[in-house]
Amino acid sequence: YKSIVENAAYHKRNIKNRRIPQSNDVVKNLVAHYTRHTALMREIEEARKQKNLIGERFKKEMTPYEKSAALKEAAEIKAFLAIQQPLAMGTQTSLLELGLRIPNITHPDSPIGSELHATTLSTHGSERLEPNSARDHWKIAQELDLVNFDDAAVVTGSSWYYLQGAAALLEHALVNYALSIAVRHGYTPMTTPDVVRSDIATRCGFSPRDQSDEEGNVIHHFYHIAGSSTELVLAGTAEIPLAGMFTRKTFLERQLPRRVVSVGHAFRSEAGSRGAETRGLYRVHQFTKVELFAVTEQEQSDAMMEEIRNIQIEIFEGLGFPFRVLDMPTEELGHAAYRKYDMEAWMPGRGTWGEISSTSNCLDFQARRLHINYRPNRGPDDATEASHSSLPFAHTLNGTAAAIPRLIIALLENGVQLNEADQAVGLTLPKVLRPFWLGGDSLGPSA
Ligand code: AMP
Repeated sequence: YKSIVENAAYHKRNIKNRRIPQSNDVVKNLVAHYTRHTALMREIEEARKQKNLIGERFKKEMTPYEKSAALKEAAEIKAFLAIQQPLAMGTQTSLLELGLRIPNITHPDSPIGSELHATTLSTHGSERLEPNSARDHWKIAQELDLVNFDDAAVVTGSSWYYLQGAAALLEHALVNYALSIAVRHGYTPMTTPDVVRSDIATRCGFSPRDQSDEEGNVIHHFYHIAGSSTELVLAGTAEIPLAGMFTRKTFLERQLPRRVVSVGHAFRSEAGSRGAETRGLYRVHQFTKVELFAVTEQEQSDAMMEEIRNIQIEIFEGLGFPFRVLDMPTEELGHAAYRKYDMEAWMPGRGTWGEISSTSNCLDFQARRLHINYRPNRGPDDATEASHSSLPFAHTLNGTAAAIPRLIIALLENGVQLNEADQAVGLTLPKVLRPFWLGGDSLGPSA
């Protein structure tokens, strides 16, 4: 809180740049509550000191008059504390609520504004194909019998799906391909829980509790699990269980960075998202995702962000489709993100670029809330052990190695083989997937 109060003007501007809804006066209110809280705590501290001094007086000989005066004073202090302590608890709760609404600071190079202001850092892969509705992944999926939305609509609802036949195998091939590259780069493979405590999600910078949008409509971002004794939600991303597993860990500096990669399922209620992409696999409620996650010491996180970016480029270049890397502007940054790179694949059937991955450097935003610290290497002359409260917080980063439905879209739309009637007859399987492919020639003529 202290740093927010001392840099209040910066935080006001930062919130404005990020266009966070309903955040007018959050910083102003936080400063007011902080001032009140610190004043209350000072008074409480002073009163406790007085109380202790009276306690000391009781240990010595006292006249009856002195004793009764001391008792009266002690009673007054007790009454004072009985009023002040709940007030301080109240301001503490308000501070926490306000603090949770304040986003991370922003990298000075992040463009300011909406997604239109993203900076393209690089472009990769093959030449872009012309936009062509015959390459629409939804149409291809029907023609090659790869995705079943109808039965999923009966079993679960709209925007749920079954991957079937070659598409189901494609998921496994893509997962193992991405995993194999991450493992080669030193990432420890994990399978993570898809269900997490809502409190852990909050500490990672997500708002699992229902929120309202600018028009006051209630938005449910997370699926909540009813009937559990602790408040549980379906994880929107494996970033949450991966970050959460480091809760209250103190590393030695030489143990950092820690690199982990998980295969998990992401659950998104997607309420409030604009309706344009409701058809097909682009915006669905559940998808398999391979997620990279790193814990670093403070000076390493910028370099780690570049490392993650290079791993992602390696993964997507192998798949052959055109893609680009964007430095995302302020309005597109998640609450915890200091800087974010998105990658977008060219999707000729959609006739546009589509996001396939996202990487964020969260600095110490998550580590502060999850209590992830490290003990810096001690110089040869430094014999003192730093106390735990003075240890630096680690930095955390996350990045998508493979978000399966979006990769399937990019592969189908760029790699489909069409006949003269513009119907899909097969798909060219990228060479890199062959070692992970269990489907023989099930993708069509020349797969
Ligand atoms: P995010 O954690 O929101 O940055 O998402 C990570 C990646 O998952 C994105 O870059 C997309 O490729 C993919 N993704 C996000 N939301 C969805 C969704 N509702 N359906 C399918 N893929 C998604």
